[in-house]
Amino acid sequence: MSSVAILGAGCSGLAAAHILRDKGWSVTLFEREHEVGGRATTLAREGFKYDYGAQYIKRGSPESVAWITERFRASDLLDIVKPVWTFDGKGSIQEGDSAQNAEEKWNYRSGLVMLTKRMAESLDVHLSTPIELARHDEHGWNLVGEQGQNIGTFDRLLLTLPLPQVCEFLGKSHFEPEVCGAVRTVLGTSMYRPLLSIMLGYRPTPRTRPYYALVNSDKRHAISWLAWEHEKSLERVPEGAGLLIAQMAPAYSAEAWGRADAKLIDDCTGRVSRLLDEDLSSPYFSDVQRWQFALPSVLVDDAPLLDLTLPLGLALCGDGFVGGRVHLALEHGMRVARRMADEA
Ligand SMILES: Cc1cc2nc3c(=O)[nH]c(=O)nc-3n(C[C@H](O)[C@H](O)[C@H](O)COP(=O)(O)OP(=O)(O)OC[C@H]3O[C@@H](n4cnc5c(N)ncnc54)[C@H](O)[C@@H]3O)c2cc1C
Repeated sequence: MSSVAILGAGCSGLAAAHILRDKGWSVTLFEREHEVGGRATTLAREGFKYDYGAQYIKRGSPESVAWITERFRASDLLDIVKPVWTFDGKGSIQEGDSAQNAEEKWNYRSGLVMLTKRMAESLDVHLSTPIELARHDEHGWNLVGEQGQNIGTFDRLLLTLPLPQVCEFLGKSHFEPEVCGAVRTVLGTSMYRPLLSIMLGYRPTPRTRPYYALVNSDKRHAISWLAWEHEKSLERVPEGAGLLIAQMAPAYSAEAWGRADAKLIDDCTGRVSRLLDEDLSSPYFSDVQRWQFALPSVLVDDAPLLDLTLPLGLALCGDGFVGGRVHLALEHGMRVARRMADEA
C-alpha cells in the first residue's frame, strides 16, 4: 500500500484524497487552517454565516455532479433559484443572461464549506498543520512543520496550494535540483488576482430585489460582485437582519489592499448605496477579508510538469491549472490523483 501526503484540504486536495483512498492508498491530509475548505469556505460571526470566498458551485462533469448531489450529498444542499443580474461601470442594472441563470447555483443552507466538510468526514485530515518544506530521499518525502518539527515520511506527495505558494514551498524544499528548478520556472509563469471581500450586515434587511446577486459586466466598476447572502437561507443571518457581500474588482483590490478596514467599509457602503439607490451607509456588522491568491488569471499546463514530477512521486493539482471554479478544482484533483495512481 502506497502512502501519500496531501498538502491542502480544499476541494482539489479532498477530491484527490478520495480517488487515492478508493484505490487502497494510505492518505493523510495536512491543512494549514483550523477548518477544511480553502477558498470554498464559510465564516460564522455575530450570528451571520457567510461564504467570503466562492459564492456557489456550478454544474461540472457528471462525476463531480454525482459527488455533490449523491456521494457527498448534505441534507441542506440547495439551489439558489433567484437570478444574477448585471450592472455596468455607470451603475446601470440589467437583467442577466437567461441561459446562465437557468443553470444550478449550488450551495448549502449552513454554508458552502459543507461540501468539503462532508468530503473530509471519513479522511485523515490534520488541521492547523502548516507544512513548511519537504525533503526527498530514498525513504520518500519527509515533511517538516513550521517549527522545524518532523511531521512524517510518505512515499508520495501531492501539493494543492495556489501555484505561487507551491513555488515558494518548493524553493524551501530539498529534492532533485534540476527538477525543482524546472518546475519552479514553469510555476513562475502562473498569476493570480487579489480580491477584497467586504461583508455588510443590516437591520432591517435591505430592500428585496428581483435578483440574488449582481455582477459587473464591463469590468469598469470598483465592485465586481454584490450578493444578498440572506437570499441563500435565512439561517445565514440573525432574525430581522440581512447581509450583503461585495467582492471588489481586482484593480481596486490591489490598489486598496493595505487600507484600514474602516476606510474600505466606508468607501464600499458609499458605492453600494449609489449603485442600488438605497441608503446602506450604516451597517451594524461588517467584516473585511483579503484573498491574496483569489483567482488564477494565467493558467499553467499540468502535463509537462507532471511528466517531470511523477517519476519522483510528486504531483500538483488545483485551480491554477484549470481555472478558478470549485467544480474545476475538484475535477482536477480527481484527474491528477488517477494519473498518480496509474504511474505508481
Ligand atoms: C473571493 C472568491 C470568490 C470565488 N467565487 C467562486 C464561485 O462563485 N464559484 C466557484 O466555483 N469558484 C469560486 N472561486 C474559486 C474557488 O474557490 C477555487 O477555485 C477553489 O476553491 C480552489 O480550490 P483548490 O483546492 O484548488 O485550492 P484552495 O481552496 O486554495 O486549497 C488549498 C488549501 O491549501 C492550504 N494550505 C496552504 N498552504 C499550506 C501549507 N503550507 N500547508 C498545509 N496547507 C496549506 C490552504 O489553507 C487551503 O485550504 C472563488 C474564489 C475566491 C477567492
